[in-house]
Parts: sequence; C-alpha cells; structure tokens
Amino acid sequence: MTSAQIIDGKAFAAVVRQKVAEKVNNLKGAHGITPGLAVVLVGSDPASQVYVRSKGKQTVEAGMNSFEHKLDAETSEDVLLDLIDSLNADPTVHGILVQLPLPSHLDESLVINRIAPEKDVDGFHIANVGLLGTGQKSMVPCTPLGCLLMLRDHHESLSGKNAVVIGRSNIVGKPMAQLLLNDSCTVTIAHSRTVDLPDVVRRADIVVAAVGRPEMVLGDWIKPGATVIDVGINRIDTADGKTKLVGDVDYESCAAVAGAITPVPGGVGPMTIACLLANTLTACCRINNIAEFDELSF
Ligand code: NAD
Repeated sequence: MTSAQIIDGKAFAAVVRQKVAEKVNNLKGAHGITPGLAVVLVGSDPASQVYVRSKGKQTVEAGMNSFEHKLDAETSEDVLLDLIDSLNADPTVHGILVQLPLPSHLDESLVINRIAPEKDVDGFHIANVGLLGTGQKSMVPCTPLGCLLMLRDHHESLSGKNAVVIGRSNIVGKPMAQLLLNDSCTVTIAHSRTVDLPDVVRRADIVVAAVGRPEMVLGDWIKPGATVIDVGINRIDTADGKTKLVGDVDYESCAAVAGAITPVPGGVGPMTIACLLANTLTACCRINNIAEFDELSF
C-alpha cells in the first residue's frame, strides 16, 4: 500500500527543461549567443551510448548546440587531453562533459581536471569541488543538484532537518551531502562500513540512497513521514525472464511509511539531464558575463 506522496521527477524535469529552453531563446534574441555542450565518449559502453544520445537529443530540444565526440576505446590519453584543450579554447562550447567511466588505461582525474573549470558542467573538477565545499559559487554535479531541487520543491525549508546520504562517491554521495549541508541540514554520510545502517537511516527526515544495490533500503528503516530520494539505477532479472529497472530503495515497503518518495524510473534520472542543460546555460551566462541564470531557483 502506498501512502507516500510520489515526487514526480519526470514532470519536474520537463518544467526545468522548459525554463532552460525559454532562457536559451532569450539569450539568443538579446545577445546572439547559443549555448553549446560538448559530450566526449570514449569507447562503446552500451549504457554510456544511451546516456550520450539522450543528452544530445535533449540539448538540441532546449535550443542549444550539441557537439558529440566519439573516440575509440583505445584512444591515448594525449589525444583525449588534446581534444579537451581544443574544446576549452572553442568559444562556441560552454559546457564539456566527459562520459564516465573511461577505459581503464585513462586517468579519470587527470582528464576531468583538464577541463576548464568554468566549462565543467558535471562539476567534478577539483576547483568546483573546492568551491562547493566552501559554499562558493561553483558548477554543481547534476545528479545531486536534481535531488536538491526536488527536495527544495517538496519542503518549505530544509534547515535543521536530519539528512542521511547513503553512499560516499565523488559523483553523488559527497556533493549531495555538501549541498544539504549548505542548506543547513544536519548531515550524516553512511557507506559500506557504516555500523547498523538501518538504525542510522531511522533517524533521518531525508534519506538519499546512492549505493548501487537493488532495493537495499527497506521500509522498516524509514522514519514515518520521511522524504526518500532514490538515486539508484539497477537492472534486475524478473521471474518471467525479462529485466526491469529498480532503485536502491525497496519502493513498496518504503512508500508505505515515507511521507514522500521518488520512483525509479521517473524520479532522479530525468532530473539529472535537465540539470545538465541548466548547468550548460549557467556556464554560458557566466563565461559571457551575462546576468546570471540561477539554476537553483526552480
Ligand atoms: P559508487 O559505486 O561510486 O558508490 C556507491 C557507494 O555506496 C559507495 O560510497 C559505498 O561506500 C556505498 N555502499 C556500497 N555498499 C553499501 C552498503 N551495503 N551499505 C551502505 N553503503 C554502501 O556509486 P555511485 O556512482 O555513487 O552511484 C550510486 C547509484 O546511483 C548507482 O545505482 C548508480 O547507477 C546510480 N546513479 C544514478 C544517477 C542518476 O542520474 N539517477 C546518476 C549517478 C549514479
């Protein structure tokens, strides 16, 4: 039985994309500038190919330019770094995203930190990590940003709430915790070594699950009325020999206890790409010294 309010990330993402498209249109009309996003894909990982295609399509639908660079899996680090240097120098490119994971012979940190910080629309460059960590204006990683926008939309204020983020990755867990801290939550980061995870989660008004383990978070871990944001995307086999996508949260049991919950699919996933578009617009405005588009004001 579902009692929780469903936080509809698909619908919210459509609103964000619409607002971005309107701003892009204004930018073109008033300044003759079209934001451009370059996506670099190395190798042929099927999931990455799907993401890159989807990003390109939505970029164009928002009225922005999309530049796709597909490189062989064997591409050398020097060739990849040269490409990033040329994108850094290209005035038609305002956002650069290198699709992760990279093939193992490439140094992910080296590659990401080669991107000009102002074009780092994924927010993974150490300069942006440092800016976010010190509460300064930065490029904010898309998935946690999408989670924050949904939480802000749902709650009048996040101030003073107990938030538990499960997962400490650089891509989701850590920046998520930082954003919640910046919004004055009391934040706990739980991870694979956390002792008695259910007990830690039971104290949370807000739970963000970013683990990568199908349906791990159970209903009896959830404080009644808490808000549950499920970042996980896991493909599992079903009894009829097919597969389906599930989150890190056991939806049925958690929805029976939570006050609000994001579904998988249709929750965090669509917000991630919408935030990528918002970040590209933000980067374009900042690079051109145009009155800032505020991606956090939805
Ligand atoms: P990751 O593998 O880098 O990190 C997983 C984290 O979970 C680690 O910090 C680890 O300590 C923690 N963990 C592992 N087992 C645990 C356990 N038993 N108890 C508590 N913590 C445990 O993963 P990630 O990149 O942060 O992604 C997490 C999930 O989010 C994955 O399912 C991924 O597919 C999904 N994801 C979704 C989006 C989106 O757009 N919706 C974006 C990025 C990642």
